[in-house]
Amino acid sequence: MRGAPAGPRQLLRRLREVMAEPVNAQTRLDRIVIHIASNMVAEVCSVYVLRSDGRLELFATEGLNREAVHQTTMRAGEGLVGLIAESAEPLALSEAQAHPAFSYKPETGEEIYHSFLGVPILRGGNTLGVLVVQNRAQRAYLEEEIEVLQTTAMLLAEMIASGELQSIAPAGTVISIRKSLTLTGRPVADGVGLGHAVLHEPRVIVSQLVAEDLKKEEARLGEAIAALRISMDRLIDGHEHAGAGDHRDVLETLRLIANDPGWMRRLREAVLTGLTAEAAVERVQNDTRARLQRSTDPYMRERLHDLDDLANRLLHQLTGQPFVTANDKLPENAILVARTMGAAALLDYDRRKLRGIVLEEGGASSHVAIVARALGLPVVGETPNITNLVDDGDAIIIDGGAGEVLVRPPADLQAAYAEKARLRARRQEQYRSLRDTPAVSRDGVAIDLHMNAGLLVDLPHVRETGAVSIGLFRTELLFMVASQFPRLREQIELYKSVLDAVPGVPVTFRTLDIGGDKILPYMRSFEEENPALGWRAIRIGLDRPALLRYQLRAMLMAAGGRELRIMFPMIAEAEEFDRARELTLREIRHLERHGHPTPTSLKLGIMVEVPSVLWQLEDMLGRVDFMSVGSNDLLQYLFAADRDNKRVQDRFDPLSAPALRALKLIADKANNAGKPVTVCGEIGGRPLEALALIALGYRGLSMSPSAIGPVKAMVLGLNVAEARDLLLPLLDRHDGGHSLRAELRAFAEAKGVPL
Ligand code: PEP
Ligand code: MG
Repeated sequence: MRGAPAGPRQLLRRLREVMAEPVNAQTRLDRIVIHIASNMVAEVCSVYVLRSDGRLELFATEGLNREAVHQTTMRAGEGLVGLIAESAEPLALSEAQAHPAFSYKPETGEEIYHSFLGVPILRGGNTLGVLVVQNRAQRAYLEEEIEVLQTTAMLLAEMIASGELQSIAPAGTVISIRKSLTLTGRPVADGVGLGHAVLHEPRVIVSQLVAEDLKKEEARLGEAIAALRISMDRLIDGHEHAGAGDHRDVLETLRLIANDPGWMRRLREAVLTGLTAEAAVERVQNDTRARLQRSTDPYMRERLHDLDDLANRLLHQLTGQPFVTANDKLPENAILVARTMGAAALLDYDRRKLRGIVLEEGGASSHVAIVARALGLPVVGETPNITNLVDDGDAIIIDGGAGEVLVRPPADLQAAYAEKARLRARRQEQYRSLRDTPAVSRDGVAIDLHMNAGLLVDLPHVRETGAVSIGLFRTELLFMVASQFPRLREQIELYKSVLDAVPGVPVTFRTLDIGGDKILPYMRSFEEENPALGWRAIRIGLDRPALLRYQLRAMLMAAGGRELRIMFPMIAEAEEFDRARELTLREIRHLERHGHPTPTSLKLGIMVEVPSVLWQLEDMLGRVDFMSVGSNDLLQYLFAADRDNKRVQDRFDPLSAPALRALKLIADKANNAGKPVTVCGEIGGRPLEALALIALGYRGLSMSPSAIGPVKAMVLGLNVAEARDLLLPLLDRHDGGHSLRAELRAFAEAKGVPL
């Protein structure tokens, strides 16, 4: 292995001393450029810092005219410095003036310098500035010199990120790291949240950049990589599947990268320039991120996630810092920022401190979104690169209805959004005033509005919203917050506390819907090629009847002397329902034999969420007491479009003729058979979609608590016969259009139906 040149290490040591000196930021920066110029035997060294207006400003120089400092500026893309900022790539030239991008700034006096080496100052893949050295003589810069300058740029990145340079910026200019940003993501859960950013997976803070002992750092890096590989092997080979939640091919890819000689070589080389092992990981990842972020190839950008993941694991390995933010680190008004997040992880946070969630991935029907909605939290999904654009503690505002995220907003915007939040609260107040008004349309059609729930914290909402029942209680959420599989006694207590919390209000419990993306951390899970089509929900219940029987027994015991409704998820054929019902009846016989009180009435139903049910509706309706349409799953299966995959999220619209025809078929058959039918998927809680469902014949909708007010307001303004007369002929139209949304919206607007 090649030894490191003494020069760069000496430079880093000197710079570390300068960083520790008790001087002001300008003096520190002036000393830094002197040291860099002298160590690299260059006549010029200059630092340009990116401002919030997109211009690069000369902040310090050794060799150019001092008067130009804080005077000379250029656009990103202008001149060589601008080119480096834009491309985020180093540029080394022996004759700068021959480069087509060269532009001359007379006040700097740089015309006498021929060779030029510039590197971007990067942090989290974002450009914060440019560091340049220049020489009078024409010369070629060595690869090693470029490396050294890049490493030095890391120190400057930390200095810029710390906010120290803001104090020396001319009045009125803001350096870009602190600039406010408005980002657009996807609306996932309505509401406005104001607070401070909390990274769900906190960025590892590398406090020591410069190595004290190179050999030691090399050894630390080697050990951390070895440990990382072992942990990857373990994850993949199945010993630690439970709780991992990761997809096998992602892990396989990570393992491949962890063993990639190119990646390891780059890490080692970075250590050899004088960095600590963790600083080396950050340095290499910064470069990779800057390169891949600009790639137009989606596959390459996808790899960036994998590399980020791996670098993150390695940084945790090296620093021992925690993987996720602990509750005691949450500010009082936390906006969680995450790339992705499981529903269980969200439930681990102290709800009282949360004001909203921003996700880089994650669509409207992902489970984290459903749980967030149940908790009444606004969510914006699919916000590009958000985890790299905010720091812990940054002021942040999210508008879940518009899909907007404001990072470090200026004071006037903060005030405007605070006003918006107040207005919203007032509107909620109006909805609350509708609480006791029955949801009856203008032409006298009564609609039952039920509530979806899954946690004990949801239950007070029944009273606040005036919901007629809990139309879907997702029992798996109770299991997801438990630290171990709840035993019979605990389950009885859980279901009892649900029933006790809402006396007189019917509750439809759904049996465990686990598998797919709903993983219980304490239960062994199995890697499957297509988890959504795999061993989940009732399939597990029927194959492991002890599990299902326990749950049924607990529900029956909890509801002793009261009314009980149970619904089975993911039923694909009538015979599955028969078996589930048989297990239930067996439990009742068991309880009766042992003298336990049983429910006064028991109704058994199914979720309609597997398309095969559409062609056995008569059979099913002959057996069940009620049906509830799980449109989240039903539509994902009908259109073969994964509900959690953002790339296919716009492939279909629930307000399209095929989706609505399928939904109409279910309503028609159930109404003909005289069996109650509701929709409990997310579409039931969106006013325009709810309007369509009512026009199709649904008279019961179950939704998250925050949707009940808006849907009730819509119903009160609706004439159902008119809506039906509009929609049904449209359904018969055979022009293959993507959506009937525009027609429905125009109808609502023309008729003054509030949406
Ligand atoms: C559905 O699939 O529409 C549904 C209500 O169930 P879940 O979202 O829990 O899968
Ligand atoms: Mg479902």
